[in-house]
Amino acid sequence: MDLLKELSEMSGAPGREEHVRAFIEEKVKGLADEVRTDVMGNLYCRKKPGGSPEDAERVMIACHMDEIAFYVRRVDEKGFVKIHNLGGFDTRNLFARRVRIETRSGEVIVGNLNPGGKPVHIASAEERKKIPKIHEFFVDTGLSVEELNEKVRPGDPVTLVQDFVEMGDLVSGKCMDNRAACWVGIRLLEALKGKEIDYDLHVVFTVQEEVGLRGATTSGYEVDPDIAIAIDVTLAVDTPGVSGEDQITELGKGAAIKVIDSSTVSHKDLVDAFIDIAETKEIPHQYEVLPMGGTDAGALQRARSGAKAITLSIPTRYIHTVTETLHKDDLRATVDLLQAFLSE
Ligand code: ZN
Repeated sequence: MDLLKELSEMSGAPGREEHVRAFIEEKVKGLADEVRTDVMGNLYCRKKPGGSPEDAERVMIACHMDEIAFYVRRVDEKGFVKIHNLGGFDTRNLFARRVRIETRSGEVIVGNLNPGGKPVHIASAEERKKIPKIHEFFVDTGLSVEELNEKVRPGDPVTLVQDFVEMGDLVSGKCMDNRAACWVGIRLLEALKGKEIDYDLHVVFTVQEEVGLRGATTSGYEVDPDIAIAIDVTLAVDTPGVSGEDQITELGKGAAIKVIDSSTVSHKDLVDAFIDIAETKEIPHQYEVLPMGGTDAGALQRARSGAKAITLSIPTRYIHTVTETLHKDDLRATVDLLQAFLSE
């Protein structure tokens, strides 16, 4: 879990995935036949097919590196840093958060994130009920206006800070969405080391998923896969106050084989293949039908003239908060399922 801890605590706003990319590049050394980065920052790790490469199908596995984050919009006249969000935050989870601003020179400035308005002690009953809008949040760094104007510029990335913890069989931290998938991608390449597979495999660590599958759009065009598999987290609302089908998935019940979400109808052949493999090899798994939300599979399915596409999801509680929580067994099941599929 040390690998996931490092991935989780790293910052990678959409468009600023360079730290995550450099880290992964280091970790996949010697595990792929080709490793390269494109102009947008997608990281391609290719494992060439054994056997007869001419008729090998191209499989692309996409794991997005970015996390929901902010960019500096401006420093106001009192020295508060106003921000712009990239990705879908629930503002109810953003009160009293620690954040880090990464300046152009690479210096990290720590600050507190809060919405404008009064604390409960002096707020009216009406004011207390109000849920703030995202643009009402600001960062207090404690630095003077002069110092801030010298160091901080519009467009500097602002990311949330949270340490990673193990809690029994669970792990919790920020941006398990989608560093959990980056973990799966790295562990898969490790598991395949020295093994021959019949597929031409491209594990791609993509950029800018949270702002509209942008890295998958270009890398999907580049790889032109026959089979595209996105790895991402999905809702596990197996917590108090929610019952039945609204749970979507359950922690500890295995990798979720996605049938449908709002970006993709998974290809029937792939759903059947993954279910069959999971059943035969007794790999813990569950179905996923997600009414809202999408993954890189949405872009990959429509790259060039199209690909068979599916998402394998890691069930996760409290998605898009800094306490995203998942089960270690589900992580392992996801790697096992991919490895079994590629070894068929
Ligand atoms: Zn995601």
